[in-house]
Amino acid sequence: AKQLGRNNFQFYDAQLNAEGQARLQMEADIRLALEREEFVLQYQPKVDLHTGRIASAEALVRWRHPQKGMVPPLSFISLAEETGLIVPLGAWVMRTACLQNMAWRQAGIGPLRIAVNVSARQFARPDFVETVSSILRETGLPADGLEIELTESMVMEDVGNAIGVMTALRDLGVLLSIDDFGTGFSSLAYLKRFPISVLKVDQSFVRDIEKDDDSRMIVLSIIDLAHNLKLKVVAEGVETASQFDYLRSRGCDEIQGYFFSRPLDAAAFAALYGKHGET
Ligand code: C2E
Ligand code: CA
Ligand code: CA
Ligand code: CA
Repeated sequence: AKQLGRNNFQFYDAQLNAEGQARLQMEADIRLALEREEFVLQYQPKVDLHTGRIASAEALVRWRHPQKGMVPPLSFISLAEETGLIVPLGAWVMRTACLQNMAWRQAGIGPLRIAVNVSARQFARPDFVETVSSILRETGLPADGLEIELTESMVMEDVGNAIGVMTALRDLGVLLSIDDFGTGFSSLAYLKRFPISVLKVDQSFVRDIEKDDDSRMIVLSIIDLAHNLKLKVVAEGVETASQFDYLRSRGCDEIQGYFFSRPLDAAAFAALYGKHGET
């Protein structure tokens, strides 16, 4: 029995080691990918339902892997967060997105807002506000051309600090959104104190808006809540004409989703803007 136990232990140990090895390999790969500039951004339009025009573009990162092809963010963002590599990666994303917005503006596209996702790990750094303001300075993008998407959980982790950081960002002129709204645990009492401009209704509620009474009630409640707090509401994950029509009829301010457009590379986004941006 003793022998068996020992073998089991070795087996378990070897498995842990294999996982550890894979993580270390992935970490090294991400580091190298940053150096080799293998990350790319795609941009998904958000359409203003009051004007019918593209108002904003959300930057979404992909890894153009030399062997694996286009790797989606969900397969590397969490490891990048755990290892801290999200800090240089996130700064690259923000700088690249701001530069792209400047290039569009110079080409007569816009002026649009560019929205960037930020991780808890970035947001919690004492130099985060300074990083944002130096990216704006370096790229020349006016602060109101940048929107930062935060999640409820990262803001609720340390509310006191988060309100300070959000206020400093707002004072720079940057717009703040709460992403995936409805899936976290932000208290309404705090929501009123957050210097934010937008609530993004999570796509899980939008998806079931027609089939499920609860989802529909949640979406309607979020629209009311946002408007009562003088915030805009964006619905994400809008895939069908009937979802689009319903949300428009209920006063949702902006929509984002495959119904209007998938995330696009910068050139395709510019072409789409040419067709729809001014309608
Ligand atoms: P998210 O911020 O909630 O972004 C929305 C996700 O939904 C994107 O997936 C987008 O492509 C997808 N989506 C958009 N419209 C539709 C639709 O109509 N139907 C469906 N089913 N999906 C739709 P993506 O690009 O794979 O990104 C996944 C997540 O990865 C993002 O969720 C965000 O949390 C994270 N992420 C992406 N880029 C970055 C980044 O630069 N930094 C950080 N920290 N996280 C990022
Ligand atoms: Ca987002
Ligand atoms: Ca989201
Ligand atoms: Ca999400």
